[in-house]
Amino acid sequence: MQTVMSTTTQFSSKSHGQYNAKAYSAASATSPLAPTTIPRRDPSEDDVQIEILFCGICHSDLHTVRNEWGGAVYPCVPGHEILGRVTRVGSAVSKFKPGDLAAVGCMVDSDGSCPECQAGLEQFCPNMIATYNSPDMHLGGVTYGGYSDSIVVKERFVLHVPSNLDPAGAAPLLCAGITTYSPLRHWGVTKGKKVGVVGLGGLGHMAVKFAHALGAYVVVFTTSPNKKEDALRLGADDVVVSRDTEQMKKHASSFDFILDAVSAEHDINAYIQLLRRDGNITLVGAPPKPLAVTGFGLVFKRRSLSGSLIGGIAETQEMLDFCGKHNITADVEVIPIQKVNEAYERMLKSDVKYRFSIDMASLKSE
Ligand code: NAP
Ligand code: ZN
Repeated sequence: MQTVMSTTTQFSSKSHGQYNAKAYSAASATSPLAPTTIPRRDPSEDDVQIEILFCGICHSDLHTVRNEWGGAVYPCVPGHEILGRVTRVGSAVSKFKPGDLAAVGCMVDSDGSCPECQAGLEQFCPNMIATYNSPDMHLGGVTYGGYSDSIVVKERFVLHVPSNLDPAGAAPLLCAGITTYSPLRHWGVTKGKKVGVVGLGGLGHMAVKFAHALGAYVVVFTTSPNKKEDALRLGADDVVVSRDTEQMKKHASSFDFILDAVSAEHDINAYIQLLRRDGNITLVGAPPKPLAVTGFGLVFKRRSLSGSLIGGIAETQEMLDFCGKHNITADVEVIPIQKVNEAYERMLKSDVKYRFSIDMASLKSE
């Protein structure tokens, strides 16, 4: 998920060398993504330089590129599900060496000293720097994301990828994976719990895999009847077509936890009604328009509504290790970067099974 950036850009006092990287950027909210060249800093002592092999396409990339949340700065290079190979490391880097597989998610820096950082929750640090569309403290301007052939990131924000995972399918773990793993863990999803997942997209299909691996009874709510068989294959125990009110009623007041991963306007009250006493529904989806919530749905049965933003660095590594152990990756459709604009249109139609992963080798021909 991408945070809306502040418009003030601070420059670092350090002067850096820089090099050119190939990338795809959008020139405005209405422009398609197109090939470009962007500056990247030469790695300094605590930096890791990564050749990007795969980058997932998150719906947040589309929300940002089209400025649906406001605050987008152009040119905009999105991409925060980055997986690649280390090419160079700074002298103080101890956990990575050239040739290692490495990954970067939605954050590339934070102040490291605030209570949120101290708690391992860098995503809530007031000075968190997002992978794209945040102030670039080194080169000025804004940070550029993973639709590119390389990136340079502080070691503290670089993750290890278990070697048994398919790299194209592992890339989306860096956002879709951690964004769903974190709230499932936070809300104590385990065996014996009844868990709902709303929206079987990039995030939703990862939530199904994780909730199933954690032993829960999983019900998928979808607007796409044709996803039913996939949902069961991904680990769901039951599938409800959410536009069918009779099917919805059967599950009234029965869920311990529901994760809502829908990218567009929808009726959240229909899901609040499905929570048991003290049940929780957590929003990870970030539709641009506000959702209307009926107080009655919450006050009866003391239900609660929460949000959740990606996850901290330590938890992201924990999630990747969990995926290594359980052999979990995203179901991906691998595309060349030249198909990125078409992929955005298909994502808007829920026509992706279940994440696009860009093969960055395709950028070499640009
Ligand atoms: P996605 O792959 O496009 O999936 C969204 C799913 O929502 C669709 O597959 C569809 O599922 C459902 N949906 C779409 N339009 C709908 C509508 N009008 N009514 C009801 N359901 C609808 O998107 P994603 O990448 O998973 O991201 C989902 C949302 O999470 C986005 O808003 C994104 O910005 C946000 N996000 C948040 C975080 C965070 O940290 N909180 C991180 C990443 C992304 P069905 O076909 O099954 O109905
Ligand atoms: Zn994302």
